[in-house]
Amino acid sequence: KASAPDARGNRTIVTESGKKIVIGPDGKPCKACNTRLALREAMRGAGSGAGKSSSSAASSSASPAGFFGGAMAAATSPSSTSSASTLSCPPDVEELGRSSWDLLHSIAATYPEKPSEAEQSALLSLLKALPILYPCRHCAQALQEDYTRRDSVTTASPPSADDMKVSEAVISKSQAMRFTCSIHNEVNERLGKPKWDCEDLRKLKERWEDGGQK
Ligand code: FAD
Repeated sequence: KASAPDARGNRTIVTESGKKIVIGPDGKPCKACNTRLALREAMRGAGSGAGKSSSSAASSSASPAGFFGGAMAAATSPSSTSSASTLSCPPDVEELGRSSWDLLHSIAATYPEKPSEAEQSALLSLLKALPILYPCRHCAQALQEDYTRRDSVTTASPPSADDMKVSEAVISKSQAMRFTCSIHNEVNERLGKPKWDCEDLRKLKERWEDGGQK
């Protein structure tokens, strides 16, 4: 069954095996919101409907077969599936996530311990832009909810990573690294992945600044 569209026109449908697939406003599966595995599984579930064209969600039935058709075929075609030569074309939710975390943790790791006002303002803009612009809409929405929760708690001084507000993250490199770790942990938790100790700056620096830890 298809959900009602969100503010951006994205809908979620659930396949027969229970996988959730996000459909963009154009009626096509959103690559930045779904794993290739989920897209392929939905494609298999679409069965004979897979070859037919279905260009808009409005004109599609609520079943995966009705929803996908040509759009699914395009999203999982050889030109866009994972292989050494075609990886990231365009990135799926996992590739996009890894690249984004690489960027965010690396920015935090190279951020000054005593940043200028301009540097603080730039990092604040970047972090605040994520819930608005991150290409995976449901990821962005969850991040916004995390930011809102942080804004509603009273933090100690210095704040713990898990309660740190965005505005506190830009005060220093240490806080930026701990904050980035903590918002990453929020996603790890939702996905059932191990969480990191974000108060352990030594480990964070080893992974994101000095090298060595994978
Ligand atoms: P990743 O989680 O991408 O991690 C990459 C590397 O970072 C790891 O190998 C590890 O060395 C290091 N690392 C892991 N955790 C931490 C930490 N806490 N602190 C520091 N370093 C760490 N995917 C979804 O399916 N649903 C979502 O809602 C979702 N929301 C996201 C929100 C944002 C803002 C971003 C950037 C990504 C989101 N993702 C989401 C993608 C998801 O976080 C992963 O990137 C993706 O699942 C690939 O995971 P991975 O196991 O390869 O490693």
